[in-house]
Amino acid sequence: MNNASYVGRFAPTPSGFLHFGSLVAALASWLDARAVGGRWLLRMEDIDPPREAPGAQAAILKTLESYGLLWDGEVVYQSLRHDAYAEVVARLFQMGLAYACTCSRKQLEPYHGIYPGLCRNLCHAQEDAAIRLRVPELNYHFVDRVQGRFEQHLGRDVGDFVIRRRDGLYAYQLAVVLDDAWQGVTDIVRGADLLDNTPRQLYLQELLGFSQPRYLHVPLITQPDGHKLGKSYRSAPLPPEQASPLILRALRALGQQTDPAMAQARPAELLAHAARHWSAEAIPKRLSVPEADLC
Ligand code: GLU
Ligand code: ZN
Repeated sequence: MNNASYVGRFAPTPSGFLHFGSLVAALASWLDARAVGGRWLLRMEDIDPPREAPGAQAAILKTLESYGLLWDGEVVYQSLRHDAYAEVVARLFQMGLAYACTCSRKQLEPYHGIYPGLCRNLCHAQEDAAIRLRVPELNYHFVDRVQGRFEQHLGRDVGDFVIRRRDGLYAYQLAVVLDDAWQGVTDIVRGADLLDNTPRQLYLQELLGFSQPRYLHVPLITQPDGHKLGKSYRSAPLPPEQASPLILRALRALGQQTDPAMAQARPAELLAHAARHWSAEAIPKRLSVPEADLC
């Protein structure tokens, strides 16, 4: 199969090093692109400097390289895209689709993350305020290639969400939608922790007139105690000398057939083999890996 129009991407946030869960997502995204002869782009989502771990950017690139997950073209840095984000925020604000919010964190505490619209009609100035996007009282849904149909009522389940923070930093939801469209991404393969962010992104795509990419959310790696394997919880960086065995483990987590003899192969060889045998249909919806398989 060849589909040169496929454009995939991996978009790590440099708040920590890549861990096994990020390897599973990166590998799935790479294989899904390479299996059809598509392009695979790399975007550094460095829009939140206070949360950035020193050295993480370089370490992420190095890990991807040593694991054979090579990308096409230049790395895109979101820190260099502020003008594009600012332009869209200004436009949404002028059109009345977004508004300034001066609520403090403390004020919003009782609402459990669902903004109740307190500043919706107060016409605050943009300075020293967060900018929120008005959401419609509508269900947004999509059909994920692994997780199936997912829907969310934006008004009830999310509320008007922040697109530019009070400190002037741009929100992930805005940057990810603008950059995926700008880079011509057709296929988003990422961790299922972002499943419930997707309806917000669909709404932004619709507002801005972008076409909707296909989505594939890979299962989250949860530990036997139910904890998500995250950046903050037991997430050791991936050792370069363990590339082949860890790629094999990640392939098993993705439900792919593996040949134990391949443990001796180089990462590039392993990846080429896996791309030839890639079956997205085999990816499980949910996953629990045995303790011994965590690293
Ligand atoms: N930067 C996000 C993360 O590392 C991923 C964004 C995405 O794939 O949409 O969690
Ligand atoms: Zn407010």
